[in-house]
Amino acid sequence: MRIELINTGSELLLGYTVNTHANYIAGQLAERGLRLCRQTTVGDDRQEMRDAVAAALDRSDIILITGGLGPTSDDFTRDVVAELLGRQLIHHPAIAESIRDRFRRRNRQMPESVLIQALVPAGATVLENINGTAPGLFLEHAGKQIYLLPGPPRELKPMFEKLNLPRRDRLDCRVFKVARLPESIVEETVAPVLKDLPALELGYCARMGEVEVRVLGDNLDEAERRIRAALGDNIFGVAGDRLEEVVLKMMAGKTLAVAESCTGGYIAHRLTNVSGSSAVFLTGYVTYANESKMRLLGVREETLKTHGAVSEATCREMAEGARRQADYALATTGIAGPTGGTADKPVGLVFIGLATPTQTVVERHVFTFDRETFKQVVSQYALDALRRELLRS
Ligand code: ATP
Repeated sequence: MRIELINTGSELLLGYTVNTHANYIAGQLAERGLRLCRQTTVGDDRQEMRDAVAAALDRSDIILITGGLGPTSDDFTRDVVAELLGRQLIHHPAIAESIRDRFRRRNRQMPESVLIQALVPAGATVLENINGTAPGLFLEHAGKQIYLLPGPPRELKPMFEKLNLPRRDRLDCRVFKVARLPESIVEETVAPVLKDLPALELGYCARMGEVEVRVLGDNLDEAERRIRAALGDNIFGVAGDRLEEVVLKMMAGKTLAVAESCTGGYIAHRLTNVSGSSAVFLTGYVTYANESKMRLLGVREETLKTHGAVSEATCREMAEGARRQADYALATTGIAGPTGGTADKPVGLVFIGLATPTQTVVERHVFTFDRETFKQVVSQYALDALRRELLRS
């Protein structure tokens, strides 16, 4: 069974509105064990919409269309669908009355134009809109099911929940989250071990400092066993897990401080986003200036003079300075750019320090991203350094 979604509205194509319906509907279908095969966005253009709906009718069994049910001149989903299916638009007195009633209850004058929403293609079932005037519509045509749904999210969602869509077992999709490894390495590691498993769809999604590996289809238990064996400790979680949560859980009973320069408090921000983090996370220093590194963390002037603020030695002293406050400490110092790089210290150079009860380790990386992405990626590597240390100890 093929299910297809058409989102309408020029605001979606002009970049004014994020198409949250695509995300919401795909997720809701997956909850019901159904898979969206295709999603198309069209602007407020009759011909574009006509072409999109005609193509969907040709190839899919269930077609969901959102938006364009309102009373204004750019709302013509109803017309286009009625015309394509060869159905007349018929005045529906009960809808007209409920629209009038809505205006009466709000003590507002009703413009006649809103009654266009009471026109219904012959044979359509009306779907109640509890938060608006434009009802949804359901049509069956040559074995196909067509749903017309309103654009405003607060109108669409309650209506969608009540749709009588088929339901299957929940889509069994497993997602593994991998820290540090680039997407291509993840693929090179995973793809060969799954090669002989039939009917398995494998996908990768690279995010800030992490990669998601997604498997769908049959043999998922065996696929998971092989993926875990191949990627080992590089996997830090599954769908929905956040690295900061994973690390805080692993830190239970221990305490953490952070000393941040180039991440500007981003690691502390991520940690404190997690409810209950106060049991582990004690202190965060944002020491951007050399003077602050010395005064707050005890970094030596000589270290800064000899090696510079962005150096392995400074990072080590920052981590050790922060560790005076907690069992473990993370430190970051780097050149986020775009300015400030030199031949031996390029933009993107970063040192990440981890001080533990037994040792201090400093990693060196070069990440060339915009400033915000740089902070995110560095924070990801720092949290992952701690995770790997905790796995070892
Ligand atoms: P209305 O009666 O408001 O005209 P409608 O069914 O004709 O309803 P639209 O005019 O297409 O719907 O959209 C109404 C509102 O819903 C707009 O604010 C629009 O930005 C928002 N909206 C429409 N489609 C989406 C979508 N795919 N994702 C998120 N918001 C959307």
